[in-house]
Amino acid sequence: MIFFYVPPKVDHPRVTAAITAAEQHTSGEIRVVIARHRAADPVAAAKKQFERLGMTRTAHRNGVLIFLAPRSRTFAVIGDTAVHEKCGDALWLELTAAMSGHFKRGDFTGGLVHGIERAGALLAVHFPRTAGEQDQLPNDITEVD
Ligand code: CA
Repeated sequence: MIFFYVPPKVDHPRVTAAITAAEQHTSGEIRVVIARHRAADPVAAAKKQFERLGMTRTAHRNGVLIFLAPRSRTFAVIGDTAVHEKCGDALWLELTAAMSGHFKRGDFTGGLVHGIERAGALLAVHFPRTAGEQDQLPNDITEVD
């Protein structure tokens, strides 16, 4: 008998719904990228995707990217310049610690949803949604090789 490691499936509709719900209350944009490869340096990989996906081009520079590499169980949460200015580091550390707990148990969907909800709440405080706000970045998960 041969066993292959198959990363647990991520529930895409649930993650997308969480992003859509979170963005109802903020002008901030939350995006999730899942890497099929292992990422030994998730922060560097996340920064690369942040640029590649044009996330630095939001109107208020308040995009947040959650990058997850299930194969290596590594992840990073990256915020654009305005997010760094307004949102304290302590809250982000708390957010990533909670996500880490989910990921270690292999609960990738739960970890992503938790991160999205907390990031959304944080963004809503500092970047409340204003009338006529457009969705600037897609809410569905982007998968990269
Ligand atoms: Ca969006």
